[in-house]
Amino acid sequence: MIPFSPPRIDQAIVDEVSKALLSGWITTGPRTKLFENKLTAYVGCRKTICLNSATAGMELMLRWFGVGPGDEVIIPAYTYCATANVVMHCGATPVMVDINEKDFNISVAAVEKAISAKTKVIMPVDISGFPADYDALNALVNAEKIKKVFLANGAEQKKLGRILILSDAAHSFGATMNGKMSGALTDVSVFSFHAVKNLTTSEGGGVCLNLPDQFDIDEIYQHLNINSLHGQSKDALAKTQVGNWRYDVLYPGYKCNMTDISAAIGLIELERYESNLARRKVIFDQYVAGFENEEWAIIPPYLTAEKETSYHLFLLRIKGIDEPKRDAIMQAIFEAGVSVNVHFQPLPLLTAYKSLGYKMEDYPVAWAKYENEITLPVYFDLSDESVQFIIKAVTKAVNGLL
Ligand SMILES: *Cc1c(COP(=O)(O)O)cnc(C)c1O
Repeated sequence: MIPFSPPRIDQAIVDEVSKALLSGWITTGPRTKLFENKLTAYVGCRKTICLNSATAGMELMLRWFGVGPGDEVIIPAYTYCATANVVMHCGATPVMVDINEKDFNISVAAVEKAISAKTKVIMPVDISGFPADYDALNALVNAEKIKKVFLANGAEQKKLGRILILSDAAHSFGATMNGKMSGALTDVSVFSFHAVKNLTTSEGGGVCLNLPDQFDIDEIYQHLNINSLHGQSKDALAKTQVGNWRYDVLYPGYKCNMTDISAAIGLIELERYESNLARRKVIFDQYVAGFENEEWAIIPPYLTAEKETSYHLFLLRIKGIDEPKRDAIMQAIFEAGVSVNVHFQPLPLLTAYKSLGYKMEDYPVAWAKYENEITLPVYFDLSDESVQFIIKAVTKAVNGLL
């Protein structure tokens, strides 16, 4: 069976993790701080904090901005549940909007229609690693007529004076737009380093802060650090210094820090990330060459004059098929020995959100993208022979069932 997305674990990773394990320091410490600094330099943002997941990062940022009951956060219906769940955790309302015809990302026109006086945050998602329309989104939240309807509560909202853009960049580490890296495209971007993502730390997330100059970034970093460690005034490393054992708890914070064992994996992953991206691009190009002449194939956008994907997921679509036909084709591909997937089941299909009253028929583009989509394996260790095998298995399954 060709797996869908195994992590790239080799001797280099094992050696660095061993070093971390034997160093005497296994929780948040020097490796995490080094990883944060290297991420900041790589993406070109102002500062980065690493946590135990992207989910934790998105929630901490919503809470930092003072998002709570009565507030609305605009998200695409086409995403992983984490984007919506963190809004729910804060007691706010996820306002779901449809996606674009041209790609799998949030529709800026739909966002504009959904903005109300309750809107505090927009959370675009870079589906498959292809950046959302940040130029349009950044311009939208800065437009005078949109700023006029923004009702600022609390210090951070007053300081920003407009809707915050919090990017769910879980897929897009390494992607670019107009020569800038994902992580530096808007106010805040949150990467996931979960096991299946392009760059992994087994579990983990990175919050790239790129807020405007009026924000003291070191102060925000300090706040996030403390809020990720129970509201404790000193972290474990600081407490080991002579005469520094006593600490205070400033408020009941969360517990979602990254460990140095995870950071050890991340440091190696980041060091060789360019080769990972290059290999993924070759796999994408092979898929495109394999499918572009098929009448039934819809190739996902991944490289335009403005944007280049991080080559995270290859979202193949099959023209003219419905959901049961798609499922049958997937079954045939699995039976041929290839693991495939669907990204994503739009949120209104899931019990948690369906039961709250979100309706699939309100998101026709998301449905149209979902019902005929099949995600193919993309990962560094996937060989050229395996890619050709996958192309044949997909083609045979489609031709046999179309
Ligand atoms: C993986 C993923 C997340 C969650 O990342 P974690 O690090 O597991 O919290 C969020 N959003 C999207 C779109 C994802 O694919």
